[in-house]
Amino acid sequence: MSQVTLGYVPSLRPGALLFTLAAFRYFQTGSRGKSAILVDLYGTTGGRKRNLFGESVATISKRAFGDLVPPRDVLLRHTFFGVYSRAMSPAASAAWSDALIAGDRSHRAQKVLRNFNSRQFHLVTRSLRSCPQCVADDINAYGFGQWRILHQIPALLCCPEHGLALNDEVSGGIAGNLGQYALPRGKISTPANRIPWAASDGHSTYLYLWTQLLEGKLPVVTSHAWAAYMDVVVSRFGGIASAQAEIESTIRRTWSTGIANITSRTGRHIMENFIHAELSHNSAPGRLAQKLVVLGAVSALGIDLPTAGDSSQLRLDLSSKLNEDSEPPLQEQLRRFLLDVALPGSLAPFLLTDRNITQTAREAGGNRRHVWKAMQKIPDRLLEEIAATQRWSAKSWVTIELKRRMGTGRDS
Ligand SMILES: [Zn+2]
Repeated sequence: MSQVTLGYVPSLRPGALLFTLAAFRYFQTGSRGKSAILVDLYGTTGGRKRNLFGESVATISKRAFGDLVPPRDVLLRHTFFGVYSRAMSPAASAAWSDALIAGDRSHRAQKVLRNFNSRQFHLVTRSLRSCPQCVADDINAYGFGQWRILHQIPALLCCPEHGLALNDEVSGGIAGNLGQYALPRGKISTPANRIPWAASDGHSTYLYLWTQLLEGKLPVVTSHAWAAYMDVVVSRFGGIASAQAEIESTIRRTWSTGIANITSRTGRHIMENFIHAELSHNSAPGRLAQKLVVLGAVSALGIDLPTAGDSSQLRLDLSSKLNEDSEPPLQEQLRRFLLDVALPGSLAPFLLTDRNITQTAREAGGNRRHVWKAMQKIPDRLLEEIAATQRWSAKSWVTIELKRRMGTGRDS
């Protein structure tokens, strides 16, 4: 392959989208074809126009950052991997970045993040949005506006840094059309876009938590730690119902508005029953917005973020160092496996009883096919341990899965 020299490549601030480089290059080269710009940056044109999750990141790191920024850092600083990988266990996040760096397209974001899709939600806004103050700051510091990752998170209606309403600047599909290469200009919002609770304490905390998340400073939202944390919260209040009531009234007080207003304004990105869903592990790891609303309320209630020493379960998880003699109980191991394949932890107790996949999915509100495909990936050792807990009927998922594995024997 011939060596590509890009010439001058501007510096991106941490938290700016990769697509900014394509838009800048279009502006810089004027008449050059857009496909040529994509090939220069990404090595290919197909499906990567806005390059949301850093496909071809190995090429990008070489061409746009001169190998000075390692591919994984490009993913964390300049793509939505930097947001959504924060919801995953360290092992699941590493598997995803390894696949992106190796160019393995079977690890698509949709698969990694949304196995449990009883109700779909978009990971990224359809339009590119901007904050006028951020654009002004970027022009001052860099000479041009930069698209920010957090501005394109659907459940964020305001800039996390300035609190100003975000505005649609470039409309269009999630992948972006070739005709829309533009840098942000910082369109000023019209008064109709004002959000009633924009200045509330609860909302300010929520915005702050998003910036912490992108900087990798919220390990509590990684899937296993979050599940353990929700258990701590439930036990502190003596049950899911009372925990839910406390959190709900705290949100109402700190956001100065009702839960229904928040969920209706954010569309499908924060579910109506999100507090209950999070407390009962009936939520996907990628549903970060509702986790951050809950987290803000829980901290306002004086339940501090777990630190080493608060709970042995959390300590184990946050340091991700499980030694063999202190293996977590079977249900916890199964829950961690489910979270790693983006299924809700609430499936675990159902899967430990004599049921088939259809019954399990129906009772836990999941998608039968996704559950079935995921359980085909459960490690042999964990499956064997589950199999040993009781006598399983011929129609149970455990028996069927064990038979399937024997049928596809390894010595064939
Ligand atoms: Zn801003």
